[in-house]
Amino acid sequence: MWIWIAALLIVHAQPKKNPWETMASPVKADQSIIYGSYSSGCIVNAEELPLAGPGFEVVNPYRHRYYAHTSLIQLISHLGKWAQNTGAGKVVIGDLGQPAGGPLTGAHMSHQIGLDADIRLHLLLPDKAITNRNSFNSTDVTQCRHSGKKINYTFLAEKWPLSSHQLLQTAALDERVERIFVSAGIKKHLCEAFADHPQWLKKIRPEWGHTSHFHLRLRCPEGMTSCLAQNPIPEDSTDLSGVGCSGNDFNSWFIASKNTHVSSACIPRSTKAEKNTLGSELPRWENVMNKDTFPKECKELLAAFAAKTKDPVFAEKKKSSETQLSQQKSTDTVIR
Ligand SMILES: [Zn+2]
Repeated sequence: MWIWIAALLIVHAQPKKNPWETMASPVKADQSIIYGSYSSGCIVNAEELPLAGPGFEVVNPYRHRYYAHTSLIQLISHLGKWAQNTGAGKVVIGDLGQPAGGPLTGAHMSHQIGLDADIRLHLLLPDKAITNRNSFNSTDVTQCRHSGKKINYTFLAEKWPLSSHQLLQTAALDERVERIFVSAGIKKHLCEAFADHPQWLKKIRPEWGHTSHFHLRLRCPEGMTSCLAQNPIPEDSTDLSGVGCSGNDFNSWFIASKNTHVSSACIPRSTKAEKNTLGSELPRWENVMNKDTFPKECKELLAAFAAKTKDPVFAEKKKSSETQLSQQKSTDTVIR
């Protein structure tokens, strides 16, 4: 009997695998279609971003999150060319999305429809090679401290090269870009540095974390009704700057509230360690899929994939591509 109990415990101790992670390549179709929203959806016919290109480098390739909608691939190539042509160096790209999009395991809530990208604030200097391809970490530009109800940000000007704000500006000026999320400390600095408050500053939105990278989000592609757009940036009548540099919403980032931890106000709730199946809470990716709002097209896509993996020919092909991937992962570790 004890053997049975032990076996049951082992089965229960195994965290469930996120099925979107097991899809090794994009779902092919005549055209790219996005279903759902940034934090609840998937993508058909996503494009693979090359791991290096003119003016850009991708890090953490072992995470296999370098797939996106064509518009995002084109935007990254645009930013890369800007960096190369101006001599700023190379843009360092972190997570985009999975081959078929879908919810990710871990802290990300969005990145599900191929329109989100994490990009380092610091560019790789022109004469520098990447030292560790398996790390997205970089120097923090701002420090967040919590004292009583106040949240203070110290902006580290010496860690903020001109190329960092030029990169943000270049991205924000692009029509395809919907929002850019940065630490409230960085938004505050930009509001002070660009005191005439140009319109592009409006797209730069304060967010928790994001002290060494920014999160870039594109609009839904023109005319794609199955892609659910985000509400426009809310108008704040108390904001005299018109670009989110003053007013109640802006000020709320500097006061601890119910949305912030009491002990460490500078850490958002959403980055709390994700509970695995051992606890009562399901992992976030599973919660997303269980909701009625998760598009039926994405559920069907997953069901079709699951049926295909049971096909012995496909299963053999998948096994060999997974072996290739794990070999790639071990070679990546060597590049340091
Ligand atoms: Zn992100």
